[in-house]
Amino acid sequence: MAAAVYLDNGEILTSVSLDNLNAAAGLCAETGALCQAYTLDRRVTASACVSVEPGETTIGVLAPCGICQERLALWGPGVQVAVPDNSTDRGWTARTLREVNPFYWGTSFTDGNAWPGGGPAPLVMRTFDQRRRSGIRSGRE
Ligand SMILES: [Zn+2]
Repeated sequence: MAAAVYLDNGEILTSVSLDNLNAAAGLCAETGALCQAYTLDRRVTASACVSVEPGETTIGVLAPCGICQERLALWGPGVQVAVPDNSTDRGWTARTLREVNPFYWGTSFTDGNAWPGGGPAPLVMRTFDQRRRSGIRSGRE
């Protein structure tokens, strides 16, 4: 499996999943690119995951799993994700996270049931910046 994420500056990051003997050691294909985007302090605006079965040549689009939806939620409900759609010639279409997950649990803990993380920077980064500005260093506190 492989994935690509599109960033707010137009850059595209790619990553792959590992074929570990122990499946518990594996990560979704999107994970590497999402962590890299976060490290670069960039917003993810779109994500796509694809796979090819052994012996096949057809590339299939996979909707993000629940954990990857959770990872992508850092950048808000407008992040577009590729989902399979056999009603189109290309076999996939783009949907927003809000469309894929209309009952996102995190909205239960925000004012007005808004999606968390939809601001100019990921929620966690804002929190980190606020702590840094207030003089609290990262690490054990
Ligand atoms: Zn996943």
